[in-house]
Amino acid sequence: MNVLVINAGSSSLKYQLINVETHTLMAKGICERVGSAQAFHKHGLDENEVVIDAKMANHDDAMALVLDSLVSGDDAAISSLSEIDAVGHRIVQGGKYFDRSVLIDDDVIAKIDELAELAPLHNGAALMGIHACQKHMPGVPMVAVFDTSFFQTLPPKAYMYPLPYELYEKYAIRKYGAHGTSHRYISERAAAVLDEPLEDLKLITLHLGNGCSASAIDHGVAVDTSMGLTPLDGLMMGTRCGAIDPAIVPFVMEHENLTAAEMNDLMNKQSGLLGISGVSNDLRSVRSASEEGNERAMLAYDMFSNSVKKYIGQYIAVMGGVDAIVLTAGVGENCEKMRRMIFSGLQPLGIVLDEEKNRHRGFERIISTDDSAVQIIIIPTNEEYMIARDTYEIVHDQEVGISAQ
Ligand code: ADP
Repeated sequence: MNVLVINAGSSSLKYQLINVETHTLMAKGICERVGSAQAFHKHGLDENEVVIDAKMANHDDAMALVLDSLVSGDDAAISSLSEIDAVGHRIVQGGKYFDRSVLIDDDVIAKIDELAELAPLHNGAALMGIHACQKHMPGVPMVAVFDTSFFQTLPPKAYMYPLPYELYEKYAIRKYGAHGTSHRYISERAAAVLDEPLEDLKLITLHLGNGCSASAIDHGVAVDTSMGLTPLDGLMMGTRCGAIDPAIVPFVMEHENLTAAEMNDLMNKQSGLLGISGVSNDLRSVRSASEEGNERAMLAYDMFSNSVKKYIGQYIAVMGGVDAIVLTAGVGENCEKMRRMIFSGLQPLGIVLDEEKNRHRGFERIISTDDSAVQIIIIPTNEEYMIARDTYEIVHDQEVGISAQ
């Protein structure tokens, strides 16, 4: 089954065409700056990627370009759109409605729309992607895969905020989490690497990219996660502040004369590594600057590792122990120096990084010492594969159900 995976952002549309049975990535690309005069489209499998300046007034135009690029040219991935069997959409916010991936119908679309209040940029963009697919590929089954559904298992003591209860009743203000597809994937893969059932393990999963999140996964069930009502909470990130004293918000708004939208922008786009270092949101640039003696860059580096360390401690306490700590995404997979800083001093907790293994490059791998009580594992994340797999399973089950009737 060929599944087209769509990840629509407010001004972008990422896609991959995956054959789920053979695990083959057939095509991939991204349309960026959709809706602006500088829109462009990158298409191809890494080394032979083609960049095309293209006019895209909206996601509908972008979708038309994507579908055209899949079937045209000498190296076309497929000869006709009829070879796309199903579409899987990444949806950021599934609220309380979705604890798993679902087949998209009118009711699902209405709920995604209703939830857009909690994730205006993301759910709105996903809906544009869904409508564009409906238009260009009528009748092809579509599945919604939610970033939040993995965290619907959190107990109320973890997802409630200690605010007046009426705010929860009125606005559904609670923790929903994000990056759930990534945490689900790396927890499954970590169990495979350890050759133990996921149901027997206590895991802490760390997605450390531009956006960062940590999760506690107790015997296969997510029991806590660092992102909250929105992806702003929790760990320090590239441009997001993560958890701060909430009283800072009205203080800065009053003293800097900022609107709510401006304050939101400051915390989401001008904070984190960028805000502290003044250099960049990109950890590589912050590292270079810190190695050249830039003190603010050094501070940003220290704060980032300390922020991750604190979540490790919290989640050990939440689960009453941990068997493995799993790292993924740009920083988690690639930055040996950050990993060294995160795990330094954790030996008394039975967490011992192997300096040599930490330096190795590679795919899925264990980087703790042989006698470390807690394993440290690197798993490159693959959210697109999870979306394709969920789509395959749901569409396949539906087809089996129909043919049995
Ligand atoms: P996104 O959340 O945008 O998907 P990524 O998972 O690509 O982000 O992670 C981006 C982050 O990973 C950046 O801060 C980047 O500097 C960092 N990164 C990528 N490669 C390396 C590396 N080799 N060393 C240190 N940091 C790296």
